[in-house]
Amino acid sequence: MNPNKQNGVRVRFPPSPTGYCHVGTARMAVLNYLFARKNDGHIIFRSEDTDKERSTKEYEEDIMESVKWLGLDWDEFYRQSERTSVYVHALQTLIDKDAAYVSEEESKKEAGQIVKVVRLKNPNKVVKFQDAIRGEISFDTTELKDFVVARAIDDPLYHLSVVVDDADMGITHVIRGEEHISNTPRQILIQEALGYARPIYAHYPLFLGADKSKLSKRKGDVAVRDYREDGFLPEAMLNFVGILGWTPPSGKEILSLGEMVQEFDIKDLHKSGAVFDMDKLRWYNRQYLLKKDDVEFAAYALPPLENALKERGVSWDENTAKKLVQDLKERISVAADISESAMAGEFDFFFADPMPDLSHIPQKGGSVSDTIAHLESAKNLLYKLENEAWSDAERIKGAVWEYATSAGRGAVLWPLRYALTGKDKSPDPFEVASVLGKTAALRRIDNALKILQTV
Ligand code: GLU
Repeated sequence: MNPNKQNGVRVRFPPSPTGYCHVGTARMAVLNYLFARKNDGHIIFRSEDTDKERSTKEYEEDIMESVKWLGLDWDEFYRQSERTSVYVHALQTLIDKDAAYVSEEESKKEAGQIVKVVRLKNPNKVVKFQDAIRGEISFDTTELKDFVVARAIDDPLYHLSVVVDDADMGITHVIRGEEHISNTPRQILIQEALGYARPIYAHYPLFLGADKSKLSKRKGDVAVRDYREDGFLPEAMLNFVGILGWTPPSGKEILSLGEMVQEFDIKDLHKSGAVFDMDKLRWYNRQYLLKKDDVEFAAYALPPLENALKERGVSWDENTAKKLVQDLKERISVAADISESAMAGEFDFFFADPMPDLSHIPQKGGSVSDTIAHLESAKNLLYKLENEAWSDAERIKGAVWEYATSAGRGAVLWPLRYALTGKDKSPDPFEVASVLGKTAALRRIDNALKILQTV
């Protein structure tokens, strides 16, 4: 008997470490966590690593890391590969009780080779169980025949090891995805043959892609590490995964882990599949980003910007970058948005003087000589603006607005903006000038003037 066995709720989180932690695995961890913590229960992390070919330490570590990153924890840890003797003992008990038998059969893998598998003697009955989410489920097990429970006496199959572990670890509630429903009758037959108590089962619906297709573990895009790399925050991911297919009684959408625990009741899990909606995840991330103060947000947003610019060979300037923080906060949902725009060159002009194309400097239809006159005037007005005013886009605007209004806004402001950015589309010239500062802004206007004067 396991010394940790005690009364009270005990759940298991039993991932197979055959791939990186995907969102479905995270959801299994979250739901078991919420249920256990709500009921002052214990959580058993069980690495189901019996598939020797596909299980790796790297995947196991990734799953543990991802679950911790989400803010979850567990109380006990086991690895099935270290528990073979427990399964051998159970298999021997079944054989001794005449509830299972060794069957000599030709190997499916190698023709001509004889293997000794262990088969359960099927009592051929109707198995009924009360699912905590789906109600009564009944299944005639006759069609399962005498199914195999071990490939050899020391090589148990999943159904056997799960049943033995659940009993040995005192599991009271098996909370898992509905893809396991068809496994449950087999597992109950093994349980009954071994004289174990039956845990309470709760099979929750899977979630679907936004196009209602099944998400697959193999798609790299569903691994938690990928979202983490894109800059999704653990609180946002946890909140999103937690209420996927569950409506908390308060109706709140933004909930901390503690609040989710408080509100959790397994009966409130939806009976139909939840849709994994990327836009919703982005919305969550934005809500949590907005809670950050400017210093925290800068620490989050500037590294991806710096990396992208470095990759593009654009030189980095911390002071300029800091002036972009507010604008970034207003625009983005996740750090990957910054990397994407920066890699597309959208931020280059803040850090490197553009090379304006002569034909784009004048407003459409405007003459070169008029444009020179407008840029000269704007430059003189801006030159007079005192240094302290340059951090304030409104004051920069104030310096040229009257002139632009009388001379024609397009005729003045298009060349000004284009001189500063070298782009047909960009934020307004005052915003840009406030990021660039006086020296760079005036230098860029001069550059444009030089280009115009070569005509
Ligand atoms: N190891 C199984 C899986 O990752 C879970 C088994 C179970 O919940 O019973 O799908």
